[in-house]
Amino acid sequence: MTRTLITGGTVVTAVDTYAADLAIVDGKIAAIFAPGHAPTGTFDATIDARGKYVLPGGIDAHTHLDMPFGGTSSADDFESGTLAAAHGGTTTIVDFAIQQKGEPLRKGVDAWHAKAEGKAAIDYAFHLIMTDVNERTAAEMGQVVQEGITSFKLFMSYPGVFLVDDGQIFRAMQRAGELGALICMHAENGLPIDILVQQALAKGHTAPKYHALTRPQIAEAEGTHRAICLAEMAGAPVYMVHLSAERALKQVVEARDRGLPTYAETCPQYLFLSEDDLDRPGFEGAKYVCTPPLRPRSMQEDLWRGLKTHDLQVVSTDHCPFCMKGQKELGKDSFAKIPNGMPGIETRLYLLWDGGVRTGRISMNRFVEITSTAPAKIFGLYPHKGTIAIGADADLIVWDPLKRHTLKQSTLHMKVDYTPYEGQEVVGGPSHVLSHGRVVVQDFKYQGKKGDGRFVKRSTFSL
Ligand SMILES: [Zn+2]
Repeated sequence: MTRTLITGGTVVTAVDTYAADLAIVDGKIAAIFAPGHAPTGTFDATIDARGKYVLPGGIDAHTHLDMPFGGTSSADDFESGTLAAAHGGTTTIVDFAIQQKGEPLRKGVDAWHAKAEGKAAIDYAFHLIMTDVNERTAAEMGQVVQEGITSFKLFMSYPGVFLVDDGQIFRAMQRAGELGALICMHAENGLPIDILVQQALAKGHTAPKYHALTRPQIAEAEGTHRAICLAEMAGAPVYMVHLSAERALKQVVEARDRGLPTYAETCPQYLFLSEDDLDRPGFEGAKYVCTPPLRPRSMQEDLWRGLKTHDLQVVSTDHCPFCMKGQKELGKDSFAKIPNGMPGIETRLYLLWDGGVRTGRISMNRFVEITSTAPAKIFGLYPHKGTIAIGADADLIVWDPLKRHTLKQSTLHMKVDYTPYEGQEVVGGPSHVLSHGRVVVQDFKYQGKKGDGRFVKRSTFSL
């Protein structure tokens, strides 16, 4: 039995803030003591958390590790991606496995297990992207759910690659409703977008900024509205991934005001970056190409308001890194060939603490809720993960609110040749990151080993 005591810290959950000592036995939280009341001499290790907060480990519900896209693959695999996540205080990720068109769901699930097996530094779970929905794959969804993969993602964009039509979306939603699974929607109307892209290229508009100009917010607002209507018809909940635009948020607000089980996440890039970044000199804008695109700066405040009013429940990363060299470069002559995605798995908590908690936009408790508790509840990881409670996994962060740190590609751990936040100083960061009670990162040093992370079976949707 391993017994660890975290002493002298202030515990912060989604609802409470209180001074306490935490006892961890065999990877789980075993006892919570009033400060100084833990029995002395019974612990193998003690972590001094004086002056620091003790938070549930971050849960990143949207990552793309080792993912094929546009003839290349995202730059982080399960080894480098989860190691980077751990450095930034994230202790569980939910990555997107992919069903290739025409193939059984089983094959997509097996492929993702093979990518992750023996490599991860922290726990991981999977969603499954479905690229065709028919009676055969709808039947297969039941088996996938039984294996602990309880959410499915569908795309309204990327015709010919990921796009599924409204009938397929509706059928998958009905089936998800029966199974207690959740449908995650990439809600952007891809067919007109593709026409706008062709028209822009025909006019010689090839620079990165046209990525944003050919994907207007109305395409996302329409997709969001349609996804909500289809889910309402199917009697099923729906979760919008990477919501980026003010008009899309309005659709979510309206649905929630009507009492519909509509959920949505946004990502740090939409809270901190804007379409102006796509217009940086030369080809630098390519660093900021992601989908949906970065929006006008004014929309950042709309998203912060959504987080405040709980119309947005989660901030995840959509970590999908591509190097400038050899990958983003593919789009030098056409923005349409720039692989879509940005690195972010390591920087989410730094940015949200510094730009959210320190600026007073959100409380510490809300920070914990949007980065850990809400994704745990929505995606069936709660109560093992997402909070600090007796019996929960000891996935914890000791957070030093005074730690100063400059975000630089050279010191971050993601295997990509840039960070969109290069040179930005942030205050607040983890001094210790624990997974199942083991210290995996201490003072920026990795203490774990590859393969420590386990696959986590998730429960069905129960909000
Ligand atoms: Zn994504």
